[in-house]
Amino acid sequence: MNRRTLLSQGLVGVAAFFGTRPGFGYPFHILARRADPITLPKLPYDRNALSPYISARTLDFHYGKHHAGYVRKLNAGIKGTPWANKSLEEIILGTAEKAPKIFNNAAQTWNHSFYWASMKPKGGGEPSGKLKSAIEASFGDMDAFRAAFLKAAGGLFGSGWTWLVKNEKTLEIRQTQNAGTPLVDHRLTPLLTLDVWEHAYYLDYQNGRKAYIQAWLDHLVDWEAAARRLG
Ligand code: MN
Repeated sequence: MNRRTLLSQGLVGVAAFFGTRPGFGYPFHILARRADPITLPKLPYDRNALSPYISARTLDFHYGKHHAGYVRKLNAGIKGTPWANKSLEEIILGTAEKAPKIFNNAAQTWNHSFYWASMKPKGGGEPSGKLKSAIEASFGDMDAFRAAFLKAAGGLFGSGWTWLVKNEKTLEIRQTQNAGTPLVDHRLTPLLTLDVWEHAYYLDYQNGRKAYIQAWLDHLVDWEAAARRLG
């Protein structure tokens, strides 16, 4: 299975959520020579569903203002450019280190969709099966993984993202600053991400980033989604 197939299949059940456009089923778009805009995917759970670990108020701002804002600015930025009829992934790969304004909004659009799909109500706990074995092979055991993830996410300076990725046969924790995304590195398959921008946790935890990371690992992380992406 190649990486692109894996990426697509990794988000089974949340395909619409992936931020790709809805396709060309509607002929007027073609006649008008106007691509559909990149859409804000629907949240895969209710706004109250992650409470108390992530409140409805945080989701209202984070999803409704921040994520929606990246989508809106992306559409404004690509309008009338060759990117207007490309997929979100094509835009991210094509603008990386070339067109930072479009890249930032495109990558943030994708990263946030992936973040929503990295957690679920009553998540947390431990993975099982192949994913558990892969984590043990790469990090030693679950406690060591947890400590490494906490250290990475807690220590990331400023704004960014902490990822669990597959790199060839190994799992790794990666950090990206600001809008950075492992999608631009073809060797990496993202399995999970945690948003560690302050807007992700400030309303619920103020400056307590560590408590946010712990709550995410204990109660929200969606190991089943990660296992599907691992394949
Ligand atoms: Mn965010």
